Amino acid sequence: MTTIDIFSDHHIHTPLCHHSTGSMEEYVQTAIKRGLRKICFLEHMEEGIDAPRITWLTEKDFDFYFAQGQLLQEKYDSQIEILLGVEVGYNPEQVTILQDRLAARKWDWIGLSYHFHRYQRDSYHYNLVSKRDHRVLALTAAEAEAILAAYYTHLCDAVDLLPCNMVCHLDAPLRYHSGQPFFSQPWKEIQLLLKKLQNKNIALELNTSGIAIRDDVFPGKEILHQAILHSIPLVASSDSHSPESVGAYFSRLPDIIDQAERCHD
Ligand SMILES: [Zn+2]
Ligand SMILES: [Zn+2]
Repeated sequence: MTTIDIFSDHHIHTPLCHHSTGSMEEYVQTAIKRGLRKICFLEHMEEGIDAPRITWLTEKDFDFYFAQGQLLQEKYDSQIEILLGVEVGYNPEQVTILQDRLAARKWDWIGLSYHFHRYQRDSYHYNLVSKRDHRVLALTAAEAEAILAAYYTHLCDAVDLLPCNMVCHLDAPLRYHSGQPFFSQPWKEIQLLLKKLQNKNIALELNTSGIAIRDDVFPGKEILHQAILHSIPLVASSDSHSPESVGAYFSRLPDIIDQAERCHD
């Protein structure tokens, strides 16, 4: 029987990443109102990404993030536990800098993602999880499948090279591509990654932001089934970019896990 703690939310953003709304305090207050016992702010760190807009924090932003977060930890100490973590975006071209930046602070929780992919000779990185990147939406099925395989291979490298507690929104890349449900998944690469998570005891988040997009969490049932077979720890995450999403759909998670456990019966 696989369990998940639906009273903690391990993936919450702040306005510091430039694509979220609401103050840090509003996220905390919503979490308390919804009966959560623990939340973890998990803000974006990226390095060396060429993109038309900045969707991550600078080191100066992280200074402010910690100062503000510590004030909130003190103020709400008796009501909720507040962790201060990072969602680090892997970039194979910037490993040393990412390692140094991660080592320079005391994070309560490190989530690993791979959002941006250098593809062909394009000047900007492709944003694999954006609904606005028209080059991503225009990929052919063959191109998309090649990029998905590369995505899982990079994540496999990343868990060896960067410290992390959890992998974020595992099958979210290309989520807005109309061919998504029909792409064949790179199962060899996915299995390699799951094996590594098992060996290193790295958790997998069940990211409920997927429910509004495709009526299922990230990752979907097939991958979740495999993760459960590997006994990978599961963590509830809303990936909130606005206070009203904190803890969203968490009550559905036990059922989703149950269905995934039985999806090959
Ligand atoms: Zn974000
Ligand atoms: Zn992310």
